[in-house]
Amino acid sequence: MIQKKTVDLVVPCYNEEEGLEVFVTETNKVIDTLPAYSFRYILVNDGSRDKTYIIMKRLAERFSNIKYISFSRNFGKEAAMYAGLQHSSADYVAVMDADLQHPPSAFPEMLSALEEGYDCCAAKRGARKGESVFRGAFSKLFFKLSNKLTDAKNPYGAMDYRIMTRQMADSILELSEVQRFSKGIFSWVGFNTKWISIDTVDRQLGQTTWKFSSLFKYAIDGITCFSVAPLRFTAIMGAVIFFVSLIYIMITLIQTLFFGITTPGYVTTLCAVLFLGGITEMSIGILGEYIGKIYMEAKNRPIYITKFSNFEEENNKESEEKS
Ligand code: UDP
Ligand code: MG
Repeated sequence: MIQKKTVDLVVPCYNEEEGLEVFVTETNKVIDTLPAYSFRYILVNDGSRDKTYIIMKRLAERFSNIKYISFSRNFGKEAAMYAGLQHSSADYVAVMDADLQHPPSAFPEMLSALEEGYDCCAAKRGARKGESVFRGAFSKLFFKLSNKLTDAKNPYGAMDYRIMTRQMADSILELSEVQRFSKGIFSWVGFNTKWISIDTVDRQLGQTTWKFSSLFKYAIDGITCFSVAPLRFTAIMGAVIFFVSLIYIMITLIQTLFFGITTPGYVTTLCAVLFLGGITEMSIGILGEYIGKIYMEAKNRPIYITKFSNFEEENNKESEEKS
């Protein structure tokens, strides 16, 4: 008998009590149509405040291919994905959301891309229904900007839904920074990625946890985690202002020395002070953004802390067998 290829499904879950069971049921339906692969779930409870953990445990008792990790608090989706990847050991690793916005029906297409020789198959949004015009415009602007400024190249509408090879998953784990920006990391590690379009639907059950303010922070992180372009921009801006003021100083000096003092320069003084003040503040802000990142990385804290998991049982068993 040929050995089945194994696939680990890494699923970050935060307050997913309403949808988790449906997610597993729906995903199992697709898994049943793919007998050539052996699937395993790695559910990561990211410090949910509802019954997600209880449901997760119950599911793990029912299905032997469900593994779970439960964090001691909410560490964020990025940390949850990292934890899941770290615990994965399969030939292929998928990362997907628990709310069925990343439809498991794409598995056959994604897996066949990997069989064709791609290292990764990732999904991008086709049409996103029910998104506000403002939010849509903001995310379009962000994609343009971040593709220009950073090494991370993603198509518009790139999602965090993908299946990748073991090799690529291991490379991602080597990037062990605390401030993680997955879309950048996935792209930074390289490898051949095939992009497929998926029509997304609105979240069916439960609530999205994203507010506009968190999207804004996400956008800033996306750029500052992967590029120092804003720093360079402030330096260039500083230089330009310096030269312009030099010229202005010269003109004023000549005027004063040869033609005598004419009108008092209220407006120019005020403009210069306000303009330079604004630019200085902004530059300090950009610097601060980076220094803050250095500060957080320098602490070298763990990316997540596990409270419960059914992985240990397996490890315990293994060590018992060994001894
Ligand atoms: N999620 C998480 N930790 C968080 C926030 C979200 O693990 O702090 C998970 C969530 O359970 C879901 C996925 O990340 O599986 C995407 O979250 P959501 O659907 O709220 O975001 P959106 O689909 O709007 O991007
Ligand atoms: Mg969602």
